Amino acid sequence: MRRVVYPGSFDPITNGHLDIIKRSSEVFDEVTVGVLVNVDKKGLFDIEERVELIRKVVKPYKNVKVDSFDGLLIDFMKAKDIKVIVKGLRAFSDFEYEFQMALMNNKLDSSIETVFMMTNAKYSYLSSSSVRQVAKFGGCIKGLVPDEIISMILEKAKK
Ligand code: ADP
Repeated sequence: MRRVVYPGSFDPITNGHLDIIKRSSEVFDEVTVGVLVNVDKKGLFDIEERVELIRKVVKPYKNVKVDSFDGLLIDFMKAKDIKVIVKGLRAFSDFEYEFQMALMNNKLDSSIETVFMMTNAKYSYLSSSSVRQVAKFGGCIKGLVPDEIISMILEKAKK
């Protein structure tokens, strides 16, 4: 069974993330979306809410699971018996950070592989932080995030 983890903050999940999840679910047997608990950063949504939003939008994909983790990704992977990390790459600017992370994870555990999936061109400009900003100032986020979570994001961003 080929299991992968797709880790990130997902604050909130965007159509760019969902595209990577869908494509990964076609390449691998099981995809676990791992929502990273970052104690230093107060996000828009808390961890349980992020997990809930993701579960809502990945319902059509039967081999996708959603979970949260804190601490090292490789420890979460060990607990779940996962050996492969999938990451999305948007631009050159993602590359440097992801390159470092992939090498560090491999240094910590040499049985871990990271595979990169190129962004869908139509989402190459899209990030959670830009969605948060547009929502905060009342801009239209249709097309940027799944339709069924738009109202929840707008509601939250208003507060
Ligand atoms: P963001 O950078 O949007 O805050 P995360 O930190 O949650 O998102 O990212 C998790 C993973 O998803 C990373 O590997 C990131 O490169 C990837 N990703 C984020 N947005 C996109 C996108 N629009 N297209 C492809 N991959 C993406």
